[in-house]
Amino acid sequence: MPELPEVETVVRSLRRHLPRGGRRARLERAELRFPGMLKFGKQYWPRLDGCEITDVGRAGKYIWIACRSPAGPRGAPATVWRLLLHLGMSGQLTIEPAAAALAAHTHAIFHLAGARQLRFRDPRRFGRIGVVPAAADSGGAANRHAGAMDAGSIPAALSPEEERQLGIPPGGEPLEIGEAEFVKLFRGRQAPIKNALMNQRLLRGLGNIYADESLFRAGIAPRAHDLSAPRLRRLRLAIRQVLEEAIRAGGSSISDYVDSGGKRGWFQFQHRVYGREGQPCPQCGAPIRRITLAGRSAHFCPHCQT
Ligand SMILES: [Zn+2]
Repeated sequence: MPELPEVETVVRSLRRHLPRGGRRARLERAELRFPGMLKFGKQYWPRLDGCEITDVGRAGKYIWIACRSPAGPRGAPATVWRLLLHLGMSGQLTIEPAAAALAAHTHAIFHLAGARQLRFRDPRRFGRIGVVPAAADSGGAANRHAGAMDAGSIPAALSPEEERQLGIPPGGEPLEIGEAEFVKLFRGRQAPIKNALMNQRLLRGLGNIYADESLFRAGIAPRAHDLSAPRLRRLRLAIRQVLEEAIRAGGSSISDYVDSGGKRGWFQFQHRVYGREGQPCPQCGAPIRRITLAGRSAHFCPHCQT
Protein backbone atom coordinates (compact mmCIF):
# COMPACT_ATOMS: atom_id res chain seq x y z
CA MET A 1 0.00 0.00 0.00
CA PRO A 2 1.50 3.36 -0.95
CA GLU A 3 2.43 5.42 2.09
CA LEU A 4 3.50 9.07 2.30
CA PRO A 5 6.85 8.70 0.46
CA GLU A 6 5.26 6.86 -2.46
CA VAL A 7 2.39 9.36 -2.77
CA GLU A 8 4.83 12.27 -2.45
CA THR A 9 7.05 10.71 -5.14
CA VAL A 10 4.07 10.42 -7.48
CA VAL A 11 3.14 14.06 -6.79
CA ARG A 12 6.69 15.24 -7.45
CA SER A 13 6.95 13.25 -10.66
CA LEU A 14 3.56 14.60 -11.78
CA ARG A 15 4.79 18.11 -11.09
CA ARG A 16 7.83 17.40 -13.25
CA HIS A 17 5.98 15.71 -16.10
CA LEU A 18 2.65 17.51 -16.18
CA PRO A 19 3.18 20.82 -17.84
CA ARG A 20 1.30 23.32 -15.73
CA GLY A 21 -0.05 26.45 -17.32
CA GLY A 22 0.34 26.96 -21.03
CA ARG A 23 -1.22 25.11 -23.89
CA ARG A 24 0.15 21.63 -23.37
CA ALA A 25 -1.35 21.40 -19.88
CA ARG A 26 -4.83 21.14 -21.34
CA LEU A 27 -6.91 18.23 -20.11
CA GLU A 28 -8.87 17.56 -23.29
CA ARG A 29 -11.12 14.83 -21.98
CA ALA A 30 -11.64 12.87 -18.77
CA GLU A 31 -12.63 9.30 -19.56
CA LEU A 32 -14.03 7.11 -16.81
CA ARG A 33 -13.79 3.44 -17.74
CA PHE A 34 -14.90 2.02 -14.39
CA PRO A 35 -17.53 4.36 -12.94
CA GLY A 36 -17.30 2.78 -9.46
CA MET A 37 -13.93 4.49 -9.01
CA LEU A 38 -15.52 7.96 -8.94
CA LYS A 39 -16.70 8.26 -5.34
CA PHE A 40 -17.85 11.87 -5.24
CA GLY A 41 -18.54 14.81 -7.53
CA LYS A 42 -20.07 12.76 -10.39
CA GLN A 43 -21.95 15.86 -11.51
CA TYR A 44 -18.67 17.76 -11.93
CA TRP A 45 -16.84 15.09 -13.91
CA PRO A 46 -17.87 16.38 -17.37
CA ARG A 47 -16.62 19.83 -16.38
CA LEU A 48 -13.04 18.56 -16.41
CA ASP A 49 -13.10 18.37 -20.23
CA GLY A 50 -11.14 21.27 -21.68
CA CYS A 51 -9.61 22.31 -18.35
CA GLU A 52 -6.13 23.65 -17.90
CA ILE A 53 -4.06 21.92 -15.22
CA THR A 54 -2.67 24.55 -12.90
CA ASP A 55 -1.12 22.68 -9.98
CA VAL A 56 -0.58 19.32 -8.28
CA GLY A 57 -0.28 18.65 -4.56
CA ARG A 58 -0.84 16.21 -1.69
CA ALA A 59 -2.96 16.13 1.45
CA GLY A 60 -2.17 13.05 3.51
CA LYS A 61 -2.35 10.20 1.03
CA TYR A 62 -4.61 12.13 -1.35
CA ILE A 63 -3.19 13.57 -4.54
CA TRP A 64 -4.98 16.64 -5.86
CA ILE A 65 -4.77 18.19 -9.31
CA ALA A 66 -6.15 21.72 -9.71
CA CYS A 67 -7.90 22.23 -13.05
CA ARG A 68 -9.29 25.49 -14.36
CA SER A 69 -12.23 25.21 -16.72
CA PRO A 70 -12.54 27.86 -19.39
CA ALA A 71 -15.24 30.50 -19.09
CA GLY A 72 -18.53 28.92 -20.14
CA PRO A 73 -20.94 30.07 -22.80
CA ARG A 74 -23.21 33.05 -22.02
CA GLY A 75 -20.68 34.52 -19.65
CA ALA A 76 -20.64 31.63 -17.16
CA PRO A 77 -17.49 32.19 -15.11
CA ALA A 78 -14.43 29.99 -15.21
CA THR A 79 -14.25 27.59 -12.32
CA VAL A 80 -11.39 25.82 -10.61
CA TRP A 81 -11.82 22.14 -9.78
CA ARG A 82 -9.84 19.85 -7.65
CA LEU A 83 -9.48 16.37 -9.02
CA LEU A 84 -8.68 14.08 -6.07
CA LEU A 85 -7.03 10.71 -6.44
CA HIS A 86 -6.25 8.12 -3.77
CA LEU A 87 -4.06 5.20 -4.80
CA GLY A 88 -5.70 2.75 -2.37
CA MET A 89 -3.72 -0.51 -2.18
CA SER A 90 -2.42 -0.85 -5.71
CA GLY A 91 -3.17 2.38 -7.59
CA GLN A 92 -0.77 3.74 -10.20
CA LEU A 93 -0.87 7.13 -11.90
CA THR A 94 1.30 7.24 -14.99
CA ILE A 95 1.80 9.63 -17.86
CA GLU A 96 2.07 7.79 -21.14
CA PRO A 97 1.93 8.47 -24.85
CA ALA A 98 -1.62 8.15 -26.11
CA ALA A 99 -0.45 5.41 -28.48
CA ALA A 100 0.96 3.21 -25.66
CA ALA A 101 -0.86 -0.09 -25.09
CA LEU A 102 -3.49 0.18 -22.38
CA ALA A 103 -2.68 -1.95 -19.33
CA ALA A 104 -5.42 -4.06 -17.74
CA HIS A 105 -7.31 -2.40 -14.85
CA THR A 106 -6.94 1.12 -16.27
CA HIS A 107 -10.03 2.74 -14.77
CA ALA A 108 -9.65 6.37 -15.80
CA ILE A 109 -7.80 8.11 -18.61
CA PHE A 110 -7.14 11.84 -18.65
CA HIS A 111 -6.44 12.76 -22.25
CA LEU A 112 -3.85 15.55 -22.34
CA ALA A 113 -2.86 17.89 -25.12
CA GLY A 114 0.23 16.72 -26.97
CA ALA A 115 -1.05 13.13 -27.45
CA ARG A 116 -0.29 12.10 -23.88
CA GLN A 117 -2.47 10.54 -21.22
CA LEU A 118 -2.53 10.47 -17.45
CA ARG A 119 -3.73 6.95 -16.65
CA PHE A 120 -5.13 5.64 -13.37
CA ARG A 121 -4.72 1.93 -13.00
CA ASP A 122 -5.77 -0.03 -9.94
CA PRO A 123 -6.03 -3.82 -10.05
CA ARG A 124 -7.42 -4.14 -6.52
CA ARG A 125 -9.85 -1.25 -6.87
CA PHE A 126 -9.37 0.23 -3.40
CA GLY A 127 -8.41 3.53 -5.04
CA ARG A 128 -10.74 6.51 -5.17
CA ILE A 129 -11.36 9.46 -7.45
CA GLY A 130 -13.37 12.59 -6.70
CA VAL A 131 -13.99 16.03 -8.16
CA VAL A 132 -14.93 19.13 -6.17
CA PRO A 133 -14.99 22.85 -6.87
CA ALA A 134 -11.87 24.37 -5.29
CA ALA A 135 -12.62 26.56 -2.30
CA ALA A 136 -11.29 30.07 -2.49
CA ASP A 137 -8.49 31.28 -0.24
CA SER A 138 -9.20 32.57 3.27
CA GLY A 139 -12.22 34.81 3.37
CA GLY A 140 -13.82 32.18 1.11
CA ALA A 141 -17.26 33.70 0.76
CA ALA A 142 -15.94 37.03 -0.45
CA ASN A 143 -13.70 35.36 -2.99
CA ARG A 144 -16.39 33.00 -4.16
CA HIS A 145 -18.73 35.92 -4.55
CA ALA A 146 -16.25 37.38 -7.01
CA GLY A 147 -17.31 34.55 -9.31
CA ALA A 148 -14.54 33.51 -11.66
CA MET A 149 -11.78 32.44 -9.33
CA ASP A 150 -8.46 33.02 -10.95
CA ALA A 151 -6.13 30.03 -10.98
CA GLY A 152 -3.60 32.20 -9.18
CA SER A 153 -5.86 32.43 -6.15
CA ILE A 154 -6.01 28.67 -5.45
CA PRO A 155 -4.29 28.06 -2.15
CA ALA A 156 -1.34 25.67 -2.45
CA ALA A 157 -2.88 23.32 0.09
CA LEU A 158 -6.42 22.18 0.79
CA SER A 159 -8.07 24.23 3.53
CA PRO A 160 -9.06 22.36 6.72
CA GLU A 161 -12.67 22.95 5.67
CA GLU A 162 -12.10 21.36 2.27
CA GLU A 163 -10.35 18.42 3.87
CA ARG A 164 -13.22 17.91 6.28
CA GLN A 165 -15.76 17.97 3.46
CA LEU A 166 -13.71 15.47 1.50
CA GLY A 167 -13.42 13.12 4.45
CA ILE A 168 -9.62 13.38 4.49
CA PRO A 169 -8.37 12.42 7.97
CA PRO A 170 -7.37 15.50 9.99
CA GLY A 171 -4.00 14.19 11.23
CA GLY A 172 -0.75 16.12 11.24
CA GLU A 173 1.69 16.00 8.31
CA PRO A 174 4.75 14.07 9.54
CA LEU A 175 7.16 16.22 7.51
CA GLU A 176 5.76 19.45 8.89
CA ILE A 177 4.63 18.81 12.47
CA GLY A 178 6.63 20.69 15.09
CA GLU A 179 8.28 19.11 18.12
CA ALA A 180 5.90 20.47 20.78
CA GLU A 181 2.84 19.50 18.76
CA PHE A 182 4.19 16.00 18.12
CA VAL A 183 4.93 15.38 21.81
CA LYS A 184 1.49 16.67 22.81
CA LEU A 185 -0.17 14.41 20.25
CA PHE A 186 1.45 11.17 21.47
CA ARG A 187 2.21 11.86 25.15
CA GLY A 188 0.36 9.64 27.62
CA ARG A 189 -1.15 7.31 25.03
CA GLN A 190 -1.72 3.81 26.33
CA ALA A 191 -2.02 2.14 22.92
CA PRO A 192 1.13 0.59 21.45
CA ILE A 193 3.10 3.36 19.75
CA LYS A 194 3.08 1.45 16.44
CA ASN A 195 -0.72 1.58 16.34
CA ALA A 196 -0.79 5.25 17.31
CA LEU A 197 1.67 6.10 14.54
CA MET A 198 -0.55 4.43 11.96
CA ASN A 199 -3.70 6.18 13.18
CA GLN A 200 -4.34 8.59 10.31
CA ARG A 201 -6.36 10.88 12.56
CA LEU A 202 -3.22 11.61 14.58
CA LEU A 203 -0.55 11.58 11.90
CA ARG A 204 -1.28 10.87 8.28
CA GLY A 205 0.78 9.07 5.73
CA LEU A 206 2.57 6.47 7.87
CA GLY A 207 1.71 2.84 7.25
CA ASN A 208 3.33 -0.41 8.21
CA ILE A 209 6.68 0.08 6.46
CA TYR A 210 7.57 3.56 7.64
CA ALA A 211 6.19 3.07 11.15
CA ASP A 212 8.44 0.01 11.58
CA GLU A 213 11.48 1.72 10.09
CA SER A 214 11.00 4.89 12.15
CA LEU A 215 10.60 2.97 15.41
CA PHE A 216 13.78 1.03 14.69
CA ARG A 217 15.78 4.19 14.12
CA ALA A 218 14.39 5.73 17.30
CA GLY A 219 15.18 2.56 19.30
CA ILE A 220 11.56 2.21 20.40
CA ALA A 221 9.74 -1.14 20.52
CA PRO A 222 6.46 -1.26 18.59
CA ARG A 223 4.56 -2.30 21.74
CA ALA A 224 5.99 0.56 23.86
CA HIS A 225 3.43 3.06 25.13
CA ASP A 226 3.19 6.14 27.33
CA LEU A 227 6.52 7.36 25.92
CA SER A 228 8.56 10.09 27.60
CA ALA A 229 9.00 13.46 25.86
CA PRO A 230 12.68 12.82 25.00
CA ARG A 231 11.79 9.50 23.35
CA LEU A 232 8.96 11.15 21.41
CA ARG A 233 11.32 13.90 20.25
CA ARG A 234 13.72 11.25 19.03
CA LEU A 235 10.86 9.47 17.27
CA ARG A 236 9.76 12.60 15.44
CA LEU A 237 13.27 13.10 14.08
CA ALA A 238 13.52 9.42 13.08
CA ILE A 239 10.23 9.66 11.17
CA ARG A 240 11.39 12.72 9.25
CA GLN A 241 14.71 11.11 8.47
CA VAL A 242 13.14 7.87 7.22
CA LEU A 243 10.52 9.66 5.12
CA GLU A 244 13.03 12.04 3.57
CA GLU A 245 15.41 9.20 2.70
CA ALA A 246 12.54 7.20 1.24
CA ILE A 247 11.38 10.15 -0.89
CA ARG A 248 14.94 10.60 -2.16
CA ALA A 249 14.97 6.90 -3.10
CA GLY A 250 11.67 7.26 -4.95
CA GLY A 251 9.63 5.32 -2.37
CA SER A 252 9.45 1.56 -1.70
CA SER A 253 8.29 -0.75 -4.47
CA ILE A 254 7.00 -3.73 -2.51
CA SER A 255 4.42 -4.95 -4.99
CA ASP A 256 3.37 -2.83 -7.93
CA TYR A 257 4.17 0.71 -6.89
CA VAL A 258 5.66 2.99 -9.59
CA ASP A 259 5.87 6.77 -9.97
CA SER A 260 4.14 8.67 -12.75
CA GLY A 261 6.99 7.94 -15.14
CA GLY A 262 6.61 4.18 -14.46
CA LYS A 263 9.82 4.06 -12.38
CA ARG A 264 10.05 1.77 -9.38
CA GLY A 265 11.30 3.06 -6.03
CA TRP A 266 14.48 1.82 -4.34
CA PHE A 267 13.86 2.35 -0.64
CA GLN A 268 12.90 -1.32 -0.12
CA PHE A 269 16.63 -2.09 -0.35
CA GLN A 270 17.27 0.24 2.57
CA HIS A 271 14.68 -1.27 4.92
CA ARG A 272 16.39 -2.20 8.17
CA VAL A 273 13.57 -4.19 9.80
CA TYR A 274 10.46 -4.20 7.61
CA GLY A 275 10.12 -7.52 5.77
CA ARG A 276 13.41 -8.78 7.30
CA GLU A 277 12.11 -11.32 9.83
CA GLY A 278 14.88 -13.71 10.93
CA GLN A 279 17.61 -11.70 9.21
CA PRO A 280 20.33 -10.00 11.28
CA CYS A 281 19.71 -6.55 12.71
CA PRO A 282 22.04 -4.14 10.85
CA GLN A 283 23.03 -2.63 14.20
CA CYS A 284 23.59 -5.59 16.54
CA GLY A 285 23.21 -8.75 14.44
CA ALA A 286 20.34 -10.21 16.49
CA PRO A 287 17.57 -11.75 14.35
CA ILE A 288 14.75 -9.35 13.46
CA ARG A 289 11.44 -10.44 14.96
CA ARG A 290 7.93 -10.14 13.61
CA ILE A 291 4.86 -9.92 15.84
CA THR A 292 1.21 -9.13 15.18
CA LEU A 293 -0.17 -5.89 16.60
CA ALA A 294 -3.80 -4.97 16.03
CA GLY A 295 -3.96 -7.36 13.10
CA ARG A 296 -0.87 -5.96 11.36
CA SER A 297 2.65 -7.31 11.40
CA ALA A 298 5.35 -5.34 13.19
CA HIS A 299 9.06 -5.95 12.54
CA PHE A 300 11.65 -4.97 15.12
CA CYS A 301 14.95 -5.81 16.80
CA PRO A 302 14.26 -7.08 20.35
CA HIS A 303 17.74 -6.00 21.39
CA CYS A 304 17.95 -2.45 19.95
CA GLN A 305 14.33 -1.46 20.53
CA THR A 306 12.86 -1.16 24.02
ZN1 LIG B 1 19.56 -4.79 16.91
